[in-house]
Amino acid sequence: MEEKIRIQPFDVTVSRVVQETHDTVTLYLEGKEPFRYKAGQFLTIDPHQFPPLKSLCAYYEQVKGRKEPPRAYSMASSPFEPELGVTVKEELYTKPEQTPYAPLLSPFLCYSVPAGMKMRVIGFTGPYVLDPETEQKTDHVVHVCAGSGIVPNFSILKQTLHDGLKVRQTMLYANKTYEEIIFRDELETLAKKYPHFKLIHTITREPEVSQYGPNYRKGRIGKELLDEFIGDRKTAQVYTCGPGITPFEARAARKAGTTPTPRFLETMLEDLKQLEVPKDNINYESYG
Ligand SMILES: Cc1cc2nc3c(=O)[nH]c(=O)nc-3n(C[C@H](O)[C@H](O)[C@H](O)COP(=O)(O)OP(=O)(O)OC[C@H]3O[C@@H](n4cnc5c(N)ncnc54)[C@H](O)[C@@H]3O)c2cc1C
Repeated sequence: MEEKIRIQPFDVTVSRVVQETHDTVTLYLEGKEPFRYKAGQFLTIDPHQFPPLKSLCAYYEQVKGRKEPPRAYSMASSPFEPELGVTVKEELYTKPEQTPYAPLLSPFLCYSVPAGMKMRVIGFTGPYVLDPETEQKTDHVVHVCAGSGIVPNFSILKQTLHDGLKVRQTMLYANKTYEEIIFRDELETLAKKYPHFKLIHTITREPEVSQYGPNYRKGRIGKELLDEFIGDRKTAQVYTCGPGITPFEARAARKAGTTPTPRFLETMLEDLKQLEVPKDNINYESYG
């Protein structure tokens, strides 16, 4: 029988901080006991524990009228690897017309956490993990990610390649610019090492992307690209992760009697539906 992983707090020390892109870091964490988690799962971090955020938490709780919840961060590391790492991308304050509240925790984690810092995390949990019967169900796993949505898929990809999962894998990964691609070199190395892993990048905000290589496409991931790479729509198992409609956006739309604008995740789910990929074959995680 499969062993259940108990969710519990861990006191950890940041062993090293790796700058992945200009606004994204991986925090490697060490604890007293070995960490037991599955590729694709996440831990949570409570912002209240950091003294520089104490006043901001109290202020936000006063004006928002609710307790600031812990934030979730997927493991970028895989269980077979010796270190545990979470990768955090700074969320920017870009929509003052929608909310007066700037993001709380991610800027702190990205810019103010040095190696040696102690913190408490709670883990590990999350259903966004590889189906244990993948080899029986399919010969193709397709990863469809945008921005920091790559994190759990990177973990799943590394673990499955390491384990010798006997299915081919394709990753479609969308970013605004080449410089913003998280794990760019690691993904390229995996694609070179494992011929049954195909990597396709899409770049939305650069006019010319062919300079980066034949596996770079201009624009967003859409129905056409999905159709080109999914192969057998009836059997491919899709894992898609990225920005989705936030609960705040959903609530504001409900109040205004409108529908919230679909973000990456909702768009992918709609495209997959139109391509008639069976619902049961689609696994998703929203970073909304
Ligand atoms: C399962 C899961 C896994 C995740 N994994 C990762 C990961 O691996 N890496 C990663 O970088 N991120 C990940 N995320 C996202 C992460 O949990 C945080 O949501 C993100 O870092 C932003 O947190 P923050 O505290 O900086 O922003 P927040 O303070 O939570 O704000 C987020 C947004 O909501 C707006 N907002 C805040 N409060 C309100 C309010 N009361 N009313 C209206 N709008 C408001 C802010 O302006 C901002 O745009 C994951 C999310 C989930 C659900």
